[in-house]
Amino acid sequence: MFAFEKLKRLRQRRITTCGSAQLASSRMLNDTLMKRNTTMRVTGMLLLAAVGGLPETRAALNVVATLPDYGALAMEVGGNKLKVTNLAKGTEDPHFVDARPSFIRALNQADLLLEGGAELEIGWLPPLLTSARNPKILTDTGHLPLSRGLTLRDVPTGPIDRSMGDVHPAGNPHYNLDPLNGKLMAAAIAEALSRLDPADQSVFQTNLQRFTTRLDAKLVEWTRVLQPFRGTKVLTYHRSFDYFLERFGFVLVGTIEPRPGLEPSPAHINTLIPKAKEAGVKLVLIEPNRPRRTPTQVAEAIGARLVLLPILVGGADKANDYVALFDYNVARLVEALQPPK
Ligand SMILES: [Zn+2]
Repeated sequence: MFAFEKLKRLRQRRITTCGSAQLASSRMLNDTLMKRNTTMRVTGMLLLAAVGGLPETRAALNVVATLPDYGALAMEVGGNKLKVTNLAKGTEDPHFVDARPSFIRALNQADLLLEGGAELEIGWLPPLLTSARNPKILTDTGHLPLSRGLTLRDVPTGPIDRSMGDVHPAGNPHYNLDPLNGKLMAAAIAEALSRLDPADQSVFQTNLQRFTTRLDAKLVEWTRVLQPFRGTKVLTYHRSFDYFLERFGFVLVGTIEPRPGLEPSPAHINTLIPKAKEAGVKLVLIEPNRPRRTPTQVAEAIGARLVLLPILVGGADKANDYVALFDYNVARLVEALQPPK
């Protein structure tokens, strides 16, 4: 009886309010069906997950890397357990990166920040960290300066005078260009990820082992390929390649910059040219984003080849991961040093 009364009232209401009630009632029906479907789907997914039929749906760790090399290494170790955002592009000068609003958003949501440290990012990162207001990446657990634990070159022993404009006051921060440092960096990242996500520790360790084995094999290959050119004298613009040059037996005779971060002066170039000529410098290595005029003039004056080598992952199209960066640079050097046919 009550049901009949309800139906009657509903019919009456439908007549008085016409279309909108019809619409509302069909929407209600749809909502009910959708809810029922969703409930069934969720129940099904839970059942499947319980028997191991679905991958885990735990949220990926948000990793933000100041430079693409750190992001690339994190991907090697963390793979699909991570969402990696790189701030700087591989084509930028890591000392002077144009901060974009998206950086603050990414840093705000990060679980882990990977940075080079050794004051590499001091010119652009600190104000972004303040704006991001993310306490997670201000603690040791959520913040990994990759220079920690590495042996840096050119660490000043005396007091540092910033008025000199030296952008390497804590030692040379371009350590990413030694593959052995790549191994240490990947291991440090695996450790940091394991602290944040202990359940996936074995995945990170397996990935790290696979990457390390691959990098070891590649290092043997790069060393063999560059063997005939050991002892080659080079100039560079900035001290970007010191670690790379030492690893593969090249000899750095001088830099076009008088000090890291300072523009070359005519007086410095006039001293550098005879020194490079006397040493028999064969190559002038510069990053692709450097102004070419002075390096070209120097290379012409000393009869050397000017070679553009990226210093970061993504600095050239083909240098799209950590191993590919070395593959690319080794190939460019071999090409530049081949005797003319
Ligand atoms: Zn530098």
